[in-house]
Amino acid sequence: MSLYNPAMTTTTTPTVIKGKPIADAILTDCEKRVQRIIEKTGVTPCLATVLVGNDPASEKYVDRKGKLCEKHGMKSIKVVMPDTSTTEEVVAKVSALAADDSVHGILVQHPMPKQIDERAVFEAIGGAKDVDGVTFHSFGTMTYSLPGFGSATPEGIMRMMKAYDIDILGKHAVVIGRSVILGKPMAMLLLASHATVTICHSRTVDLPSIVRQADIVVAAVGIAHFVKSDWLKEGAVVIDAGFNPGPGGNVGDVDYDDCAPKCSMITPVPGGVGPMTLAVLIDQTSIGAARQLGVDAD
Ligand code: NAP
Repeated sequence: MSLYNPAMTTTTTPTVIKGKPIADAILTDCEKRVQRIIEKTGVTPCLATVLVGNDPASEKYVDRKGKLCEKHGMKSIKVVMPDTSTTEEVVAKVSALAADDSVHGILVQHPMPKQIDERAVFEAIGGAKDVDGVTFHSFGTMTYSLPGFGSATPEGIMRMMKAYDIDILGKHAVVIGRSVILGKPMAMLLLASHATVTICHSRTVDLPSIVRQADIVVAAVGIAHFVKSDWLKEGAVVIDAGFNPGPGGNVGDVDYDDCAPKCSMITPVPGGVGPMTLAVLIDQTSIGAARQLGVDAD
């Protein structure tokens, strides 16, 4: 499916990359897979979500993920642990879910409270149920283009770029942000697609001058309207992974109104990357269930 229309690409009217139609197509295929699994095995695929603490935004994200599972024929289990939980307690809970045959995918909501060793918790998921792509194993398979689960947001961005026929090979991609769930795996997936990749972070010196060299910019910073038009090369493709609550609603890491006229393509917030993250998570849960239950995933 290609949604790219070159005729729409000018520097004053960028192509707006919409995640929703691509996400819907993924979810339609996923639903068919779920039905096939149920028919063949009598087992309903199940995603377990783990929320530590009571951050209202995280609570909302987890609820949305659970509801979407159910909407597409899967089960979901929600585990909520107090914000005073220790690493050992959370690891024990996640390990129990990893050993439970009725659970096929595990999502641990990030970020966790400061006292928690997030890496230890992620590793307790294990490769087979890591449908959010956060373990070392998944990072390795992503990096080497081997079968495995992609980190949900970066994988969603790659699928979105593919749907819009965005040329990655040989392009200079600048990823702003190096978190384990977003910036780092994003950089690895772009590298695996033969981009020349620069990763920027909070200690990067003269960030605008580096972003100005980019054919493709991925903003994954967590600061509302951080990227400005005078940081961009004319005709850049700009992917905004940011999602920041604001007084007038949620906004991205890119100052959309300022940047759009300079871009060839740009993702909006909301309606860009967000729906892709959710669709990839649900899709990977159904694929994980198919593999664990010995059903053809395709
Ligand atoms: P994070 O863990 O806080 O990481 C933010 C990254 O940005 C860090 O690597 C940090 O650098 C870098 N950074 C911070 N200030 C900077 C600055 N002034 N200049 C350059 N780099 C800077 O955040 P995250 O979890 O990756 O999330 C990033 C954004 O994506 C957030 O808005 C989040 O809500 C959004 N998000 C969206 C989705 C979705 O589905 N759409 C999913 C996940 C996250 P250091 O490493 O040096 O600290």
